[in-house]
Amino acid sequence: MAGFLQTDIKYLKGIGEARAKTLASELDITTFGDLLEYYPARYTDRSRFYSISEFAGEMPSVQLKGHFINFTTEGEGRNRRLRATFTDGHRLMEVIWFSKIDTIARMYAPGKEYVIFGKPTLYRSTWSMAHPEIDAYDPDRPPTGLQGVYPLTDNMRRRGFTQRVLRTAFENLLANPALDTLPESLPQKVVDKYGYPGRVESYRALHAPTDPATLRRARERMKFEELFYLELQILRFARTRSHTLKGYVFPHIGSYFNRYYSECIPFELTGAQKRVLKEIRADMKTGRQMNRLLQGDVGSGKTMVAFMSMLMAADNGFQAALMAPTEILASQHYETIRGWSASVGLDVALLTGSTRAPERRRIHAGLLSGEIHFIVGTHALLEEKVEFRKLGLAVIDEQHRFGVAQRARMWGKGATPPHVLVMTATPIPRTLAMTVYGDLEVSVIDELPPGRKPIETWLRTNAHRGEVYRHMLRQLREGRQAYVVHPLIDDNEKLDLLSLEVGLQRIQDTFPEYRTAWVHGRMKPDEKERQMQSFVSGEARILVATTVIEVGVNVPNASVMIIENAERFGLSQLHQLRGRVGRGAERSWCILMTKDRIAAQTRRRLEIMTRTTDGFLVSEADMKLRGPGDMEGTQQSGIAFNLRLANLATDGQLVAAARETAEEVIAGNPVITGGSPDARPEGGIPLDIPSLQILADELRRRFGRKTDWSLIS
Ligand code: ADP
Ligand code: MG
Repeated sequence: MAGFLQTDIKYLKGIGEARAKTLASELDITTFGDLLEYYPARYTDRSRFYSISEFAGEMPSVQLKGHFINFTTEGEGRNRRLRATFTDGHRLMEVIWFSKIDTIARMYAPGKEYVIFGKPTLYRSTWSMAHPEIDAYDPDRPPTGLQGVYPLTDNMRRRGFTQRVLRTAFENLLANPALDTLPESLPQKVVDKYGYPGRVESYRALHAPTDPATLRRARERMKFEELFYLELQILRFARTRSHTLKGYVFPHIGSYFNRYYSECIPFELTGAQKRVLKEIRADMKTGRQMNRLLQGDVGSGKTMVAFMSMLMAADNGFQAALMAPTEILASQHYETIRGWSASVGLDVALLTGSTRAPERRRIHAGLLSGEIHFIVGTHALLEEKVEFRKLGLAVIDEQHRFGVAQRARMWGKGATPPHVLVMTATPIPRTLAMTVYGDLEVSVIDELPPGRKPIETWLRTNAHRGEVYRHMLRQLREGRQAYVVHPLIDDNEKLDLLSLEVGLQRIQDTFPEYRTAWVHGRMKPDEKERQMQSFVSGEARILVATTVIEVGVNVPNASVMIIENAERFGLSQLHQLRGRVGRGAERSWCILMTKDRIAAQTRRRLEIMTRTTDGFLVSEADMKLRGPGDMEGTQQSGIAFNLRLANLATDGQLVAAARETAEEVIAGNPVITGGSPDARPEGGIPLDIPSLQILADELRRRFGRKTDWSLIS
């Protein structure tokens, strides 16, 4: 049975050697099984014939019955085209071809009846259709109902690999009697519980749907199946590792932590900070390595949580590291942590790409001897030369800039891996976080320190620049500071730098009495540092910058942030930027500037920012609009998701159901995560051996790795 799915695609009628090569190189499809799971991107309604008089507005692809009246070629060379007039018997429309002109002119005859299928567009008050699909009309063949439209690549089209070729291939595949012998791929209990259609029935419904309701059920079932196997794989991965990886045990809370907490801490911790610290403390006592994701909105006080966790490491005789994604952020953290550490007599060093050689050597030696307790830095911390006497905790700030591979390198810094705390200000829903960051436990700071005044967000176009600058001037006159942020996107860097320079000039001309600092990613680090410093110290009152300031920069006196070309930023990024203001006690403003005309959709997206300052709501909305694939951080679980139908952002409920089911299946079958096959399953969904075998086969097929459960052979 597995044989059917693994059959080489070249043996499928309608495919053959040449097309098989194209499928392999273009879509990575090499077997029957691969093709079965290549689903239509959308469906067209071919259940009836349209008439031209019905055409109005934005049309989907439609099917018409009628005949061509005439064909004419016009133009020369690349401008050559073929035009035909087509009639449905009542009205006329135009059909046009830009390629294969001679073949087409030969193939179709005026007067003969055809069924044509394509997307009508209105051009100069005439309806026309380019390159429609054309079939001779066959009165014995009724209109066919819903029809799948498969995604094709340009290379496929160029090689004549059309929708029709693919549809014929699917007809042949679905007609193969071996298809019906495929076993159910989900545990039967689960299929029954949700009343899902069976596996084969679902394949048929997805490729050759009979009606919309059946199609909907089949899609949902296959989405669930994808998510179920994804969750199963993630849970296996995470649990197997937590069984095998030993971690340091931090049994004590000692004098560093206690003294800092009772004598030095500059503010009362929020309830959420205390709760999260308890979770971290509990983790680090267990003897298993901690891998924890700390989600907390911008300004929620993650740094203090990190520092107090580092104190726990120190209390147990260990060193701790804090890694940040940029030099500026690393130096800010360093200043903060050095201040806090000094009060309890711990030594901190800063290591970045621009640390000079002698200082670097001193740090290397200090870390090796253990004289340096805490190290703050950038990626430079990952270099091989950086060795610790006893690294007990690695904190990684702003997770989305680091991948799993880098975390793994942190683990490698000792025979026993340090505990790892990953902090992110891009909050995402819990189930999604557990999926995206698969192997991490999740803690959430869901409370801001008291006394924060909300940030007001405005959406303004260029036309309102005068009003915006007057507002900024009032704030500057009150002694506050302002950020002006410009986008910088790699493939357009020259242009962006230019617009940054223009923007800088405009600010300097408008506010000549205030000093303006400016930074961008292409600046030398020491120049950047100098400019930043002048803003941090308050000497410069305005900072014009590209997004290098995105994360972490802390200037509580800043009360205005203007974001230019806001339409070019993702919502989560805007939220991060906005978090740079509202850090002091006064009111703050974030002003999103766009060009005068923006698409309605873009406006709706940006308006979300004006309605909420809750990072969770922002990132949820962002994800729904952009899909999680584009979201920073989604590629980091270390597991390829391979989702074809399901969407982590929009199928939240299915994700949760699939997670729960995967947990039940594991609970009922401890062998899945390396437990003893003799263990009596308690609750959960126990499976018989053939069903377990199917699960193992599916995991192998989907995630490549060999799934070896010693019980089943
Ligand atoms: P983020 O979570 O964005 O990294 P920070 O750790 O930079 O936030 O904290 C933002 C600001 O809030 C800092 O100035 C910090 O000192 C302050 N802060 C943190 N926790 C508290 C608290 N419990 N009470 C008052 N201020 C706090
Ligand atoms: Mg931070």
